[in-house]
Amino acid sequence: MVRDRMKRAASAAGRSEDSVRLVAVTKGHPVEAIDAALGAGLHDLGENRVHELDEKATGHSGPDVTWHMIGHIQGRKARRVAELADLIHSIDSTKLAERLSRIAVEDGIEVAGLAQVNTSGEGSKSGFDPVEAVEQIHRIAELPGLRIQGLMTMAPYVDNDAVIVDAFAGLRDTLDRLHAITEVVGPELSMGMTNDMDIAIREGSTIVRIGTALFGERVGA
Ligand SMILES: *Cc1c(COP(=O)(O)O)cnc(C)c1O
Repeated sequence: MVRDRMKRAASAAGRSEDSVRLVAVTKGHPVEAIDAALGAGLHDLGENRVHELDEKATGHSGPDVTWHMIGHIQGRKARRVAELADLIHSIDSTKLAERLSRIAVEDGIEVAGLAQVNTSGEGSKSGFDPVEAVEQIHRIAELPGLRIQGLMTMAPYVDNDAVIVDAFAGLRDTLDRLHAITEVVGPELSMGMTNDMDIAIREGSTIVRIGTALFGERVGA
């Protein structure tokens, strides 16, 4: 079902289906959800809390599983996330980026991530301020050990399509402006969840993060 929605949205936008990657967000669901996702041929799994990522990734890692960290990270947990996640979508401040860079250099690893932009400006969301995003993300993308593969955002949870379009188009515009001045930022746009994935794909999303449409409502999370 999710694949069908993705395919329809991609073809409506004149894009190929495989230009959009599906991350199955297993947060709030038991480990059986992971087995179901892997059994259905999905390889990308996402969690938004460090302890849950730790619990789940520890039992399910290997060459065919890619773990995505999609939630806010407290500084003291950054090292654990750097160890566990293959792609960190939620690099939401210069401070966190600098910390991840230090960890990468100390441990001799490369940390791959996306810079999260607060395109809607809502106080409840984290991320780089859209006004300063180009300058700040350009700077963090040059830190040693850190590879910024693109950008991530969350649209406001509203019924108004125009507001959602603005958030996603704003992220795409930020990436375009970065690409005009630097080659070190990659091409990914992580945007689109269960409620707004169709709009996100129309606006150029390359990664959608889907929980509810795959696994149903979360219990207590
Ligand atoms: C929970 C979550 C998702 C998935 O949301 P659904 O509406 O269940 O598809 C995507 N991105 C982030 C950052 C999340 O926290």
